Amino acid sequence: MKISSSFDSGSIEVVSIEDPQNIRLRLRADNAADFRQWFHFRLHDAGGKPVRMVFENAADAAYPEGWPDYRCVAYYDRKNWFRVSGTCYENGELVVEHTPERDIIYYAYFEPYSHERHLELISWAEMSPYATVQNLGTSVEGRDLDVVVVGRPVAGRKPVWIIARQHPGESMAEWFIEGLLKRLLDSAEPVARKIREHAVLYIVPNMNPDGAVRGNLRTNAAGRNLNREWRTPDPLMSPEVHLVRQAMEETGCELFLDIHGDESLPYVFLATADEVPGFTTEMAAQQARFIEGLLAVSPDFQTEHGYVNGRFGEEMLTLASKWVAHRFGCVSLTLEMPFKDNANMPDGQTGWNGARSRRLGGAMLNPILSHVAAEG
Ligand SMILES: [Zn+2]
Repeated sequence: MKISSSFDSGSIEVVSIEDPQNIRLRLRADNAADFRQWFHFRLHDAGGKPVRMVFENAADAAYPEGWPDYRCVAYYDRKNWFRVSGTCYENGELVVEHTPERDIIYYAYFEPYSHERHLELISWAEMSPYATVQNLGTSVEGRDLDVVVVGRPVAGRKPVWIIARQHPGESMAEWFIEGLLKRLLDSAEPVARKIREHAVLYIVPNMNPDGAVRGNLRTNAAGRNLNREWRTPDPLMSPEVHLVRQAMEETGCELFLDIHGDESLPYVFLATADEVPGFTTEMAAQQARFIEGLLAVSPDFQTEHGYVNGRFGEEMLTLASKWVAHRFGCVSLTLEMPFKDNANMPDGQTGWNGARSRRLGGAMLNPILSHVAAEG
């Protein structure tokens, strides 16, 4: 048997593989920071043989509370991911027991979104008559940082910014963007057409391409957590935030969405801007209307479970959506999707996955339309 991970978003450390019933693995840290949780690797030559894989340092993961009720994802064909029911967290170790049906199988923390697919998404969007692609610059390691611009920046149209994957291991965020863009650039879709009449959308499908390719959980190639860089982004260490923030200053912003995944909570929820200094009653009313609009179109979304205000303390204005709410005084939200499943609508076969993230991305157009079509 052999385990390998030298590919796009691959990540694992192999301690020993001699005994298929006791394969010892370790979660690898981000390349320049001490965060670990993402894994993605190939197991070869195990077809028909029961294997037991032990992730020895699961308790040292960034979010150990992400392991209870978690199930590992796997695929044979690099398309159809399924959950491995024999996953459990015991004595600080994550244990995956499985009998692969084929000789080659891939295991991952969540359904990956490859860099190749990212590049295809950008080119597909550029082919649309409704979109252009602007290059804002490059990441730490020289990868393109692109923004898809939908609609023409004509006076009176509201600038909307949507960014995803500041945390590269949260691949559901880019699946969400794919679903949003597919509906937004569909010429037969009336909601998209109305949005394009009222707004210009600036969409960054992947804020952290280096981290994504490297298989990092949380940081860019320089070890920076991009969602703690918004107050004072460093042009060298966090150019990804520096460049997007600079572009936002030029366009202005009247609605901001930052798309994420949450390791622990098995729900889809929004983190709001209520606690941001300067948050007005008008912002509160607009925010409430946006949330009602999403509730009306997506049964996957809920407002009962989420973060408690005060969670970020002093760091608050270093976070993208809080900084934007403060700087531009607009509705500014962080969307969180589960790594596990939506406990209100569980799916035993897939858990939360790319397809469900895509549907949610499409549904998001309805509250966006209500927001940009409103007076003022
Ligand atoms: Zn995140």
